[in-house]
Amino acid sequence: RFITLEGVDGAGKSTHTVWIADFLRARGLDVVSTREPGGTPLGEKLRALVLADPMGLDTETLLMFAARCEHARLVIEPALARGAWVVCDRYTDATYAYQGGGRGLGAERIAVLEDWMRAGQPDRTWLFDVPLEVARARLADARQPDRFEREGAAFFERTRAAYHARAAANPDRIRIVDSTRSIAEVRAALEAGLRDLLE
Ligand code: C5P
Repeated sequence: RFITLEGVDGAGKSTHTVWIADFLRARGLDVVSTREPGGTPLGEKLRALVLADPMGLDTETLLMFAARCEHARLVIEPALARGAWVVCDRYTDATYAYQGGGRGLGAERIAVLEDWMRAGQPDRTWLFDVPLEVARARLADARQPDRFEREGAAFFERTRAAYHARAAANPDRIRIVDSTRSIAEVRAALEAGLRDLLE
């Protein structure tokens, strides 16, 4: 099974990625917990480049997919083939949201790359959703912001709207999680969803 977690920065998805992986491992399952951009040695180098330096939108999108292809071929597909569960912090929906929505590329050309990559879709995607004020408040306490986290409110709203459009277009796969709730409440919702997947 392939699970992805998505959402704007500050929505809390990284915390929940760790928790989901632990929840599944506690049931004796083989779990691979990973992230994008990144997840492989080359992918992590590409991540560092993309997050540090401003670049053209096409370049940025292609680098995201370069990292993703490497990740899919070396990590995700082999894990799924041996029957492991893969829990991934961000995947292709993030490109639709950030490059497609935030930076304004639109969905069409991303769909071409997605098609070209020929990788499977996640079985379940949780979209952690918070409004700008909540995201900002959470990020203010956190690490040094990367260049996307330093973007303004309009970028945030475009990214969030593109995530919502993805959820509307993929209602069977993507579940929106109201991440303004407490961690315990969000976990209860995730646990119910995980039990469904485990059946
Ligand atoms: O989720 P995480 O904080 O690891 O993501 C790293 C950064 O990369 C975030 O600031 C996110 O906005 C950005 N990103 C992006 N486009 C993607 C995936 C992530 O701009 N397709």
